[in-house]
Amino acid sequence: MTARQQKISGTREWAVAGVNCATGCPHDCRYCYARYDKVVRKAELKESEWQLCKIHPEELNRQFPLFPGTVMFPTEHDIHPQILDACLTVLKNLLAAGNRVLVVTKPHLACVREMCREFGDRQEQILFRFTITARDNTILRLWEPGAPGYEERLAALRYAFEEGFATSVSVEPMLEAEFVHILVNELMPYVNHSIWLGKMNKIEERVSCHFPEITKDLKRIQSFQSDEMIRIIYKRLAHNKLLRWKESIKKVVGIPQAQQPGLDI
Ligand code: SF4
Repeated sequence: MTARQQKISGTREWAVAGVNCATGCPHDCRYCYARYDKVVRKAELKESEWQLCKIHPEELNRQFPLFPGTVMFPTEHDIHPQILDACLTVLKNLLAAGNRVLVVTKPHLACVREMCREFGDRQEQILFRFTITARDNTILRLWEPGAPGYEERLAALRYAFEEGFATSVSVEPMLEAEFVHILVNELMPYVNHSIWLGKMNKIEERVSCHFPEITKDLKRIQSFQSDEMIRIIYKRLAHNKLLRWKESIKKVVGIPQAQQPGLDI
């Protein structure tokens, strides 16, 4: 595979670069790539340290270039109330350099209110993308135990939309693929940009299966993201102009893969 033909997946489907200011995340999602990378693959942190969320002070003073496309913040942690001030500082610096920033988070309403207040005069540079993977709070608590519940994420989406920001949603991974059409219908009134759907990826490698409930529920998730089910979901929702499909779905339904990073299509 040549450099020109390299696979565009993950955050590269959305952005040409990613910026972070911390390591670790109290949301502690069971499928988290960043946790797998730091705790399992590189062994830089213990499992118990992942949830502590340590700020990198040097990132707060960083002078950012103007990136050649959308830059995503964050990619390896989240915007949590514990580190909100640091996140606001980094966002301010990125925006001051003229960047268009894709802000991706499992949204805490308090954090979203603060970002909307702080960056109301920079709306044209910001695209919010809120990760809302299921409506059922029992499922959310199992897979994303430290993250806000469904109602708070929906309220945050609505708040940003009503404040006049560009809003989008990531349903990746689909934790309730069997009901994703209901989720999409509920979110649509507050989305003016896009709703991305994607599968849970690299399960054997990344999913932390220390709990029997996870092992059990994983079977449900896998059965509802089979090729057959993905085709059914695609057929049901493909007419919806807000819908976009991550690489994991594109390859099942035969949509050409993105040829460059950051196209967000
Ligand atoms: S919110 Fe994101 S960074 Fe935090 S644990 Fe979940 S997947 Fe990982």
